[in-house]
Amino acid sequence: AGPGSYTVGTMSERFDCHYCRDPLQGKKYVQKEGRHCCVKCFEKFCANTCAECKKPIGADSKELHFKNRYWHDNCFRCFKCYTSLVNEPFMLRENNKVWCSNCTAAEDAPRCKGCFKPIIAGTVPNVEYKKMVWHKDCFTCSQCKQVIGSGSFFPKGDEFYCVSCHEHKFAKTCAKCKNPITSGGLTYQEQPWHSECFICSNCKKQLGGKRFTTVEDQFYCVECYKGCVAKKCAGCKNPITGM
Ligand SMILES: [Zn+2]
Ligand SMILES: [Zn+2]
Ligand SMILES: [Zn+2]
Ligand SMILES: [Zn+2]
Ligand SMILES: [Zn+2]
Ligand SMILES: [Zn+2]
Ligand SMILES: [Zn+2]
Ligand SMILES: [Zn+2]
Repeated sequence: AGPGSYTVGTMSERFDCHYCRDPLQGKKYVQKEGRHCCVKCFEKFCANTCAECKKPIGADSKELHFKNRYWHDNCFRCFKCYTSLVNEPFMLRENNKVWCSNCTAAEDAPRCKGCFKPIIAGTVPNVEYKKMVWHKDCFTCSQCKQVIGSGSFFPKGDEFYCVSCHEHKFAKTCAKCKNPITSGGLTYQEQPWHSECFICSNCKKQLGGKRFTTVEDQFYCVECYKGCVAKKCAGCKNPITGM
């Protein structure tokens, strides 16, 4: 029983109501802090006030109390889902509202960056990235809106792209074949190239990292340039390479 507790019974002795002086013998009465009173006066002068509905909790109502607060048993419900908490675990939260454990867990759970709903631990798989969290199905590509889930992705600022959208949107495009360069490649005259596109025009060997010569926008390896392209010396018949 709480500090404002009282007992209700039927009076067998010759007592009068402390407030209105009506005889109590044979009637229902309330005893609180050593005083006896009728049910009406109890409700008027002594009853605890329900924390929820702010009405007095009369002798005929079932009263619940927690931390010096009182409720009609019918008023003791979850603030969020309105479930009766009379026989349920509960939490006292902001503004003295009582919450059921489900609603408490939902409220305190991290929020999905996609749907803004709470992510309850252990319910559905989720994706975490830099302290942000998504339901797996809410983690989608900014471009094509397909679910990325636990697949590979590319972050760009606040956006996330699936592999293929990232390729098309952001990857460098080869100066020769115009296809995206997903890995490797090289830069020549500030243009990106696939390694396999940057080749000798004659023997098709890759020229990345090797010496080569350009003649009218064509690339030649040293051997091909000497053998086929360079002008031959009229005197000694050797190629004039300038290299
Ligand atoms: Zn009375
Ligand atoms: Zn109430
Ligand atoms: Zn609830
Ligand atoms: Zn979500
Ligand atoms: Zn995409
Ligand atoms: Zn290419
Ligand atoms: Zn060659
Ligand atoms: Zn010569």
